[in-house]
Amino acid sequence: MPKCNSCGKRGLFLKIEEDTGLCLECNEQFAKTGKVLTEKITQAKNAATVNTEPADIVQNCKDIERFGNELIQLHRRFKIEPSNELLDLITTYKKMGELAANQTH
Ligand SMILES: [Zn+2]
Repeated sequence: MPKCNSCGKRGLFLKIEEDTGLCLECNEQFAKTGKVLTEKITQAKNAATVNTEPADIVQNCKDIERFGNELIQLHRRFKIEPSNELLDLITTYKKMGELAANQTH
């Protein structure tokens, strides 16, 4: 019987999203919050590309790390495994932030 991984709802005719294992209700909540965080990450990534001041880049990288971790927490709340892509992104910008921080003094 189909069962939602997050809220535990089950039913013969319950529709489960294949890629997330969530019922439509949970999937919508996950997608909505995830979209906001992904947009914030994209904005910070774009800013980090455009900015030339190391202090600004440090701030952008911190934002990416923070929103990235929030996105991971969101995945965990809905019992979804965060993608390697997301984990790599956080590691990459954490390193970039440290490099930029070294250039500020
Ligand atoms: Zn559910």
